[in-house]
Amino acid sequence: MTTSSAIESAAALSAFHNEPVADFSSAEMRRAASEALVGVKAQLGREYTLRVAGRHAVTGDRLTSVNPSRPSEIVGVHELASADLAREAIESAHAFFPAWSKTPAGDRIAMLAAAAAILRRRKLEFDAWLVLEAGKTWSEADADVSEAIDFCEYYARQMARLASGAPTVQLPGERSEMIYIPLGVGIVIPPWNFPLAILAGMTAAALVAGNTVVIKPSSETPTIAAKFAEALEEAGFPPRSFSLLTGRGSVIGDLLVEHPLTRFVSFTGSRDVGLRIVELAAKPRPGQIWIKRVVAEMGGKDAIVVDRDADLDEAVKGVWMSAFGYQGQKCSACSRAIVHTAVYDEFVERLRKAVAALTVGPSDDLANYMGPVIGEGAMKSILSYIEIGKREGRLVSGGGRAPGDGYFIQPTVIADAGATARIFQEEIFGPVLAVTRARDFEHAIELANATEYGLTGAVYTNVLERIELAKREFFVGNLYINRKCTGAMVGAHPFGGFNMSGTDSKAGGPDYLLQFVQPKSIAERIR
Ligand code: NAP
Repeated sequence: MTTSSAIESAAALSAFHNEPVADFSSAEMRRAASEALVGVKAQLGREYTLRVAGRHAVTGDRLTSVNPSRPSEIVGVHELASADLAREAIESAHAFFPAWSKTPAGDRIAMLAAAAAILRRRKLEFDAWLVLEAGKTWSEADADVSEAIDFCEYYARQMARLASGAPTVQLPGERSEMIYIPLGVGIVIPPWNFPLAILAGMTAAALVAGNTVVIKPSSETPTIAAKFAEALEEAGFPPRSFSLLTGRGSVIGDLLVEHPLTRFVSFTGSRDVGLRIVELAAKPRPGQIWIKRVVAEMGGKDAIVVDRDADLDEAVKGVWMSAFGYQGQKCSACSRAIVHTAVYDEFVERLRKAVAALTVGPSDDLANYMGPVIGEGAMKSILSYIEIGKREGRLVSGGGRAPGDGYFIQPTVIADAGATARIFQEEIFGPVLAVTRARDFEHAIELANATEYGLTGAVYTNVLERIELAKREFFVGNLYINRKCTGAMVGAHPFGGFNMSGTDSKAGGPDYLLQFVQPKSIAERIR
């Protein structure tokens, strides 16, 4: 990496600031949003090619993505990668790695800053794609695009820092240094729930550090991935620095992970797929000369603890926003509210009233707080958990589908869930909240920790000692005090969880890029 060019690029970058999110309550912004929607709707149903080894490829085997608010509406038609194309993508990425890794860090940083600028320029258009393909409401979509911009801007600056190496002790008669070099070919496997931000963040980090990547986007949101690939190309990333390989994880996933030229896998998704990747990547294949690195950020069963003296209005709001924003389909979503027995009944009643006011319907309609869940499979799985929940606890709100042709589910609250209940233990990934009674604050923290996950958590309390107790004992990667447990901001809340929530790589934090480089220590005798 060329330090001087990185320093020059860094000097051109201002201090990092989070991208402001749009305010859709303003008439002007609403008008601009509806214009963007018209522009994107005119492109619905377009066909997209694969991007493999610097060229566009077709297989004739198709994947159709649909609008979950109106499943008859086709968003994009995509090619499905074959095993041969997957191999070709990795081999080409491997062949291009020496050139890309020697591209001055400053140039890579400048490309990433350019990608951020393109996303910023096309923000409402990207918002509209997220509204239509991922079922995000406008505010959720804009937060996703803002986060994608933040990841690009933040990792550009972190790369400038890494390019200077790390300080070392200087021994007499020797000059020593430690530099960071890229790893090689990375496989980037994002989920559909932050189809732009997570895809962009994982890709940007790997590329700016000097690795080549093969991106396998989620089969639910391939159009957003194709749009991001366009932005990367426009920003100047060479076509061979990345491949975009739409395809079923169940068909090409193992091959990508197992290939001997794969150097690392950067995955965000479910626990089961993450664990499978960890297992497969651990086994060396013929011709493989390294231990594969796996970054696996996985699921959550996130809890908000409400103490007896908490501001109940604030706590109720924090819980419903965390539980039902984007239909509960965030890894950070609150799926358990654990409430002190002294305020339990009042909390449940206030929550019931607040949830009754939430509107559900097509996500392009700004009047709706909640849109659809991502697909038919997800809808069936969530509805079956609701039936389990009805047996395991007391239904307070919701309990089934909401009206409309889309995959709409009512925000559902199930009270009196015990600690061994499946709705208390298993990630449902939908708008279903379990509420559980705790004897006291200590018991509430114990219950909060009583799952295999450890991603986010929040406590609402006004007692200083209990805040300290939560800081010490609440075992989660992202802890929030007296605020909701969703909405992590790049730079401010480095993100990643403990236990079965993953490898805790802290996306959007100062250490994240270290996953994608290896330090080299050099000592030179001074003659
Ligand atoms: P998923 O089913 O695990 O899929 C994630 C990605 O893995 C998709 O691109 C999927 O491709 C791919 N995949 C599936 N099988 C594979 C295999 N055998 N080998 C390689 N890749 C494979 O998860 P999801 O439903 O998209 O996302 C929801 C999950 O992500 C939740 O558990 C959520 O908590 C978690 N999440 C975690 C974080 C975090 O930071 N901790 C953030 C966001 C989401 P296909 O779409 O083609 O199957």
